[in-house]
Amino acid sequence: LRPDETKLSAADKEFENSIRPREIMDFSGQDQIIENLKIFIKAAKMRGEALDHVLFHGPPGLGKTTLSRIVANELGVNIRETSGPVIEKPGDLAGLLTNLEDKDVLFIDEIHRLSTVVEEYLYSAMEDYRIDIMIDTGPSARSIQINLQPFTLIGATTRSGLLTAPLLSRFGIKSRLEYYSAATLQKILWRAAGLLNTKITSDAANEIARRSRGTPRIANGLLRRVRDFAQVIGTGVIDMEIAQLSLKALNVDEYGLDEMDNRILNVIIENFKGGPVGITTIATAVGEEPGTLEEVYEPFLIQEGFIKRTPRGREVTEKAYIHLGKTSYRGGSNLLF
Ligand code: ADP
Repeated sequence: LRPDETKLSAADKEFENSIRPREIMDFSGQDQIIENLKIFIKAAKMRGEALDHVLFHGPPGLGKTTLSRIVANELGVNIRETSGPVIEKPGDLAGLLTNLEDKDVLFIDEIHRLSTVVEEYLYSAMEDYRIDIMIDTGPSARSIQINLQPFTLIGATTRSGLLTAPLLSRFGIKSRLEYYSAATLQKILWRAAGLLNTKITSDAANEIARRSRGTPRIANGLLRRVRDFAQVIGTGVIDMEIAQLSLKALNVDEYGLDEMDNRILNVIIENFKGGPVGITTIATAVGEEPGTLEEVYEPFLIQEGFIKRTPRGREVTEKAYIHLGKTSYRGGSNLLF
């Protein structure tokens, strides 16, 4: 199971939408972000203004889209959803912006993938609710100014490191979503199971939660598959036995690490004697962009204590060796110190 939404099928998306929380009270975790948003939303409503532009950043599947819809819902406005690569030309952006009603939300997913020209048009839209559009070409080319209704741009990105300074500075509210604790994921699973009319015991929910890489999308995806096992080879109830058996059959890692996580750890151990090794070198070895490793994969591995950052690069920890069933080169020599 990969956390990346771009790899979701239509059926996966439909499933996600069916259990996606719509109300702020159904959204679990990210407490600080929620508390702050409630204040900002209330203040904007009291003043009768559009909410300031919001950037949600963080790894895939942590609830950026969900939160954006909840914000629009709380504001009592419409949300229009698009994504960076879909807006090809300034005209596409103008079309979206001019169709917004007063104080509406425009949600741009993968905002780091906006083209430079489109991004530059966004600046004045965000700052002054106005765009200058070039019409015609050649000698009759001229620019016309279009005034927009006040609106809120909500951008979501897994790669905030790729955003330019001018774009970043135009977001008044920037929130980084964090990985969820097992306890919060358990709650999320509980709610999702209820919506799916599936019974799940609390130890089974905890087992799935623990192995979901801190990510609601993965937790819900596992729930969906485990439910199949429960239905076909069990009584329909997800208990600990069914959960463990299905997670084993699904090859789900004890710590919730995914294939790329394990590849990264393997490469550092096998090719670089456990490190330290630079992120670019690791990236080349696993065939991923250094930035993606740094912003999407590494934070979880560091948080869970599999990798350490050192001044000379990344190093795996003893936990990584144990997890992969390998012997540490350094294990013995440490005794000398
Ligand atoms: P992102 O946009 O960050 O990739 P999404 O908002 O699409 O993530 O969330 C992925 C899935 O996880 C959705 O189906 C949503 O229902 C679920 N989800 C995410 N965050 C939460 C949360 N805090 N509480 C309950 N469900 C959540």
